[in-house]
Amino acid sequence: MKDKIHPEYKEVNVRCACGYTFKTRSTMGHDFQVDICSNCHPFYTGKQKYVDTAGRVEKFQKKFGSEYFKKPAEKSAKK
Ligand SMILES: [Zn+2]
Repeated sequence: MKDKIHPEYKEVNVRCACGYTFKTRSTMGHDFQVDICSNCHPFYTGKQKYVDTAGRVEKFQKKFGSEYFKKPAEKSAKK
């Protein structure tokens, strides 16, 4: 391999948005950031990142009470 005709292929630190850091080799020659990595990607963790829809329904139910979810016919039948 001739000198000075190839880009430098240095070891750099990659920092993910989840806080995980790992080393790789890159011609960029400096550290860089990624949004997702093998540590936090749903494919690898088996989890979804945003899974709070069920929790929101529960909050709503607490706020308005279970009465809200009863059918109007049931309420009026109590007379
Ligand atoms: Zn990550």
